[in-house]
Amino acid sequence: MKKIVVASGNQGKIREIRAKLDEFGAELVSQTDLNVSEAVEDGLSFVENALIKARNASRQTKLPAIADDSGIVVPALGGQPGIFSARYAGVGASDQANLQKLLNELAKLPNVDRAAYFYCAIVYVQFPDDPTPLVSTGQWDGVIAATSSGNEGFGYDPVFYLPEKNCTAANLALTEKIATSHRGKALAAFVEQYRATKSRAYD
Ligand code: IMP
Repeated sequence: MKKIVVASGNQGKIREIRAKLDEFGAELVSQTDLNVSEAVEDGLSFVENALIKARNASRQTKLPAIADDSGIVVPALGGQPGIFSARYAGVGASDQANLQKLLNELAKLPNVDRAAYFYCAIVYVQFPDDPTPLVSTGQWDGVIAATSSGNEGFGYDPVFYLPEKNCTAANLALTEKIATSHRGKALAAFVEQYRATKSRAYD
């Protein structure tokens, strides 16, 4: 079975990636289990950071690598937290601290448009310096709720309200979330691309 390293230690993400790529017929191993040291994410976009992470994991493991870089974008906050979503309240901040900072920032702006979207970039490299990485992206639109609700998911899910479902992302079961989420869309596009480009596979 083909082994692919997942360039993340985020269990929430890894669960969703596994769920979507289950039928893919590959063994997905977290980079944490292979003792990969974290890459310096100094890109300006989700795509750049995903590429940095995928190359880093592939370089250290000598395996093909898949990376997800994702976050939440709030236009009324000038695009914040954006690529800084995981460290919005500081390096090493908990999901709860990041989410609370987002609520606090929006509370300072009464009557502001609370529209937001999750964005996900998926990058796959066959080897560290792969000149033709597969890149796919996905977006999920919603609204930042005033308070948290729901126990599923991770990160900002409890405050990501979905008007069409009248609940937050944290009220959705894993399969329901992945069917419409930013990550689900990006992973579906990745699978399409992977199948279409098998002819250039080196393995
Ligand atoms: P990354 O690991 O550097 O890509 O940071 C991603 C961060 O964005 C996570 O720590 C979460 O805070 C947030 N995030 C990304 N995807 C989701 C999601 O599906 N639900 C909730 N939060 C998410």
